[in-house]
Amino acid sequence: MPKKETKNIIEIKNLNVIYHKGESNQVRALDDVNLEFEAEEWIIIFGPSGCGKSTLLNSIASFETPTRGTINVLGKNINDFDSDEKSIYRRRTVGMIFQSFHLINSLKVLDNVCLPQVFFGVNLEKRRSLARGFLERFDIANQAEKYPSDISGGQRQKVSIARALMNQPEIILADEPVGNLDSKSVYNVMAILKELNELDKKTIIMVTHDANHLVFADRIVYIKDGKIQKVVVTKKRREAKFNKEKKKKMVLTKQTKIPNDLRLLMNSFKDLSSANIGQLLTPFKVKQIFSHLMLPITNYQTDLTQRYMKNYLLGTLNEKQFFDQINKSLEDGGAGWDKRSAKHFVEQVAVFYKEAEKIDYSEPFKSAIRLKNFFIKRYPIKKTEYRMNVLKNSIESRLNEELARDDFQAILDRPVSEEGLGLNSRTAEKIARELELLILIRYSG
Ligand code: ADP
Ligand code: MG
Repeated sequence: MPKKETKNIIEIKNLNVIYHKGESNQVRALDDVNLEFEAEEWIIIFGPSGCGKSTLLNSIASFETPTRGTINVLGKNINDFDSDEKSIYRRRTVGMIFQSFHLINSLKVLDNVCLPQVFFGVNLEKRRSLARGFLERFDIANQAEKYPSDISGGQRQKVSIARALMNQPEIILADEPVGNLDSKSVYNVMAILKELNELDKKTIIMVTHDANHLVFADRIVYIKDGKIQKVVVTKKRREAKFNKEKKKKMVLTKQTKIPNDLRLLMNSFKDLSSANIGQLLTPFKVKQIFSHLMLPITNYQTDLTQRYMKNYLLGTLNEKQFFDQINKSLEDGGAGWDKRSAKHFVEQVAVFYKEAEKIDYSEPFKSAIRLKNFFIKRYPIKKTEYRMNVLKNSIESRLNEELARDDFQAILDRPVSEEGLGLNSRTAEKIARELELLILIRYSG
C-alpha cells in the first residue's frame, strides 16, 4: 500500500511474544497487544521493569520475531520481510537509540555517526559532512575526533541520536534513552527529542519507567505483565491536531536553528513551541507569571484538573470520581493534588454546580430567594428585612435581564441611604461575579 493511504504509521494486531515457549521457563513477554500510532506522534511506552517494554520496541524494530500477530509499519507487515529487507528497514525507516548507547568504541565519534551510511556506499566526504551537521546541531562538533570512551554520557547519547538520524528515518525508537544520564544530560537529550518531534516531525516511540517523562507524550501506552492496560491520548496531542493548520503556515521556522535558550524553555514549558516566539511570547509570559503566582499547582496539573472538571460538568464523572481523578498521583494518570486541597476544591466546584443547576428561569422569584440565601451564607450581609428584599429583588431583576451585570453590582455597592445594599465594593464585586458565573454554569445552549 502506498504510504499516503495509511492513516496510522504503525498498526500492531494481536502481538504475542513468548520466550521459551512450551518450556518450564516460558515467559509471555507480550500478551495480545493491539496498538495504533499516528505519524508525528510522541508515544511513550510506560511501565515497570520487566513488563515487556523493550520486547515491544524490539518487535517494532524487527529484532524480535512475534510468536503470533502482525506489525504493520507504513502499510507493510514487517514480519513478512526477509533478512535483507529487515536490515534495510532498520536502516531507513527506524532509527534506534538505546540506554547504553551501543557505540563502537574503536571508532571515532564522527565515524560512529557515519556508520549507517557506510552500507549504502555514500561517498566518504558526503557522509562526513552530513554527520558533522548533526554534531554541530547538537553542540558536540568539537568532539568529532574523539573516541566514545573520552566523552561524557550525555555526549555519547547525542552521538547515538546523530547516528540514528543519518538515514533520515521517519520513526525514532528510543529504549530508556536517558536512563543512564545525569539530570543535566537528561534535560538536554529530552530537549533534542522534543525538537526532532516538533520541528523535524519524527514519530518518536520512547520506552521509559520514569513518570516525569510523561508530559512529553502525545499518547501514553501503559503496560503491565505484557498486557496493555490503557492508552491515553493526551491533551497535548488533541491540541496539536487542532493547531496543525496554523503550524503549516509557520513552516519557515523549520529552517531556522533554534537558539539554545529557547530550546531549554521549550523543554520546560510544554505549550511553548517555536511557533509562538515573537509577538505571541508576551501573552505566554504573562500567563506563566500569572499562574505561577496565583496557582499552587503546575500548568500541567491545571490542564488535567480542568479536563476532569469538564467531565464532571458533562456528567461523565460524578463528584467522587472527580475527586479521585485529581487526587490520584500523576504516575497513575491523576492530577496529583494533595487530598485536602482536592477535597476542598471539588466541594467548591460542586457547590457552584449544584446551585447553578437549581436556577429556574420559569420561576425567577423562587430562584432569586434561593440565590439570596446562597449569598448570605457566603458573605457578611446584615440580615435586615430591607436588605434581604433589595438583594432578592435585584437578583430577580438580573435573572429577568432587567438589570445589566454592572447595574446589579452598583445596587449592591450603593449605600442604604440611596436605596442600595450598602456592601463594601469588593464584596459587591465578588457577588456580582459569582452570580454571573452561576448563570454561565446554568447556561446549556
Ligand atoms: P522491560 O523492557 O519492560 O523491562 P522486557 O521486554 O525486557 O521488559 O522483558 C519482558 C519479560 O521478558 C521479562 O520477564 C524478561 O525477563 C523476559 N525476556 C526478555 N527478553 C528475553 C529473552 N531474550 N529470553 C527470555 N526472556 C526474556
Ligand atoms: Mg527494557
